Amino acid sequence: KNVDGLKPNETRATCCYCGVGCGVLVQTEAGRVVGVRGDPAHPANFGRLCTKGSTLHLTARPALQEQARALYPELRLARGDARERAEWDITLDYLASRFASTIREHGPDSVGFYLSGQLLTEDYYVFNKLAKGLIGTNNVDTNSRLCMSSAVAGYKQTLGADAPPPCYEDIDHAEVIFIVGSNTAYAHPIVYRRIEDARKANPDLKIIVADPRRTDTAREADLFLPILPGTDVALFNGMLHICLWEDLIDQAYIDAHTEGFAELKATVRDYTPKFVAETCGIREEDLIQAARWFGASQASLSMYCQGLNQSAAGTAKNAALINLHLATHQIGKPGAGPFSLTGQPNAMGGREVGGLATMLSAHRDLDNPQHRAEIAALWGVADVPARPGKSAVEMFEAVRTGEIKLIWIVCTNPAQSMPEQKLIREALERAELVVVQDAYRTTATCDYADVLLPATTWSEKEGTVTNSERRITRVRAAVPQPAQTRHDWQIAIDFARRLEEKLASEVNHASTLFPYETTEQVWNEHRESTRGRDLDITGLSYAILESQGPQQWPFPQGAAGGRKRLYEDGIFPTASGRARFVNTRYQPVAERVDARFPFHLTTGRLRDQWHGMSRTGTVAQLFSHASEPALVMAQTDVERRLLKEGDLVHVTSKHGSQILPVAIGDDMRTGQAFIGMHWGEEYVSGRGHEGKGSHGVNALTSPVFDPVSKQPELKHAAVKILKAELP
Ligand code: SF4
Repeated sequence: KNVDGLKPNETRATCCYCGVGCGVLVQTEAGRVVGVRGDPAHPANFGRLCTKGSTLHLTARPALQEQARALYPELRLARGDARERAEWDITLDYLASRFASTIREHGPDSVGFYLSGQLLTEDYYVFNKLAKGLIGTNNVDTNSRLCMSSAVAGYKQTLGADAPPPCYEDIDHAEVIFIVGSNTAYAHPIVYRRIEDARKANPDLKIIVADPRRTDTAREADLFLPILPGTDVALFNGMLHICLWEDLIDQAYIDAHTEGFAELKATVRDYTPKFVAETCGIREEDLIQAARWFGASQASLSMYCQGLNQSAAGTAKNAALINLHLATHQIGKPGAGPFSLTGQPNAMGGREVGGLATMLSAHRDLDNPQHRAEIAALWGVADVPARPGKSAVEMFEAVRTGEIKLIWIVCTNPAQSMPEQKLIREALERAELVVVQDAYRTTATCDYADVLLPATTWSEKEGTVTNSERRITRVRAAVPQPAQTRHDWQIAIDFARRLEEKLASEVNHASTLFPYETTEQVWNEHRESTRGRDLDITGLSYAILESQGPQQWPFPQGAAGGRKRLYEDGIFPTASGRARFVNTRYQPVAERVDARFPFHLTTGRLRDQWHGMSRTGTVAQLFSHASEPALVMAQTDVERRLLKEGDLVHVTSKHGSQILPVAIGDDMRTGQAFIGMHWGEEYVSGRGHEGKGSHGVNALTSPVFDPVSKQPELKHAAVKILKAELP
């Protein structure tokens, strides 16, 4: 072993799955990945890995790589033709010509880029600059829109900045952990291990879980609130009502550090325990108990995820929970705070560089002229456009209607992951040009690609990622990349420099906007963009990350280290320095159940799969937990419909239909059903129905989105369920 504790064949990286951001030591032999172990020195996991992380090396086996990887550029010049192998230079020249002519003819907003929370921060930075700085369009959005934009909006509305205040260590200090809209045991397993450890260390720790399903997380709770889908705001307002009634609020903190409480107080007067219990479908005494535990404890930590975010009222849900924290002063102290868990490994990094249609670098706002001027000055361009860009759902709708003609999709699979699949696939068919940049050629979106650009992937890439607790980790390449693949940031630069030449007469900067030779140069420019901002990392460097390990932001110049926990001084990054209460009111789910569609369908992750399974789907042992998709229902509903486990049913919403086998789940309430999100096609093995039909759970989901965060309601649809008669 060397001084780092690394064996000679090990390289430090991170897990490429969830936002816990576990450190991974990648073990190699002769340029191949042969094993992984958790990094004992990484503060997110201290050496642990979950089933997905501990099988990462199996996703890098040579045979799988050959089957599934995109290994060389492919191009087709006409729809209907097959794509053919092409040289990089020819492919990039072709793309630069197509983009230049389209931009000239139809303007910069006729093109769009759709990115991914799987990308590293440096990748994100370059693509964002390419769209907003060079081309002059804000049509750059990301699949992170589908998982965390409501958390972003909730933080900004209440606390003034998109910054999760707590850290993982707060789990150890909490007296109450309130988990809501998160099956943490499945979706963030190593965080859940830390909760289990905290419970062992402190038998008095109370865990409250609010979720429509009795998930494995809920089963371990001291108090489970099986709320009806979409009723979270009523729950939080109801808890605040009880805290007010029982004098569990901290009036001194409210007076000194917040504004807007009077309006909210008037609103929550109506959220009586009786009304809330009926609305949420829970017992009044459980609601009161939850409020008492939360409000009376010295340290209440809430942890939440897609159950709050993937909703047409996602911003209000986030804000209502943060209201509760502010009113009871459960924030800015050890063991307390509203902690959004990010779904993807670098959704946070994407937020930091402003890789969304509604944001600019370093948490700046697109609609703020000063912020636009600051970024234009940093990049050396005349201006950054003020016109709002298209968010994920809007972007594909604009592709469908022809407003966006060329779409460039990087490291994500919208043909599976976006709601109302038939519209997304229609959009991809109608687009004048679909560019797919991905490490895998097996995604449903690749089927629509006119140009396929082969990218590097986990264990081959250099850069940084940021996890849920604002911790930046240096990611290192462990093995050489396949010969014809390129890094995502390099592909963006190779294209951007060509486009600069083509648009030379229109753009007004003297030299290239993309002078980078290394990821460190990209990251240093990103670092400069954060100067004086809430996420200031001007005191941090690649060298510090190398020598001192992962660091949390902010880490301003002159600081000895990153800040573990935010707002301990009670000063918030708002104009007044005070946190803002948002006057939140409960709104039902966008699609109400009725006689035609009588079931609430909810969606979510399974324990051992990741997203659309392009990676986890190549590992046989990850199917031992769930081997095929199923519609999970309560036993009473199955019996009432004269069904039995394994029967095939049509599940139909207003948006589409699926055929799935029925499974009975004791986690389900009557009137509700659940489908895991991972499978992209109907697939029922051995019954003449393999891989047919429409496209996974998102054939059923609604494109309705939150008006503030623009995050779609992927968590819920109203459905009917009928027995399928198959030949
Ligand atoms: Fe990877 Fe998340 Fe599992 Fe950690 S908890 S090993 S980051 S999937």
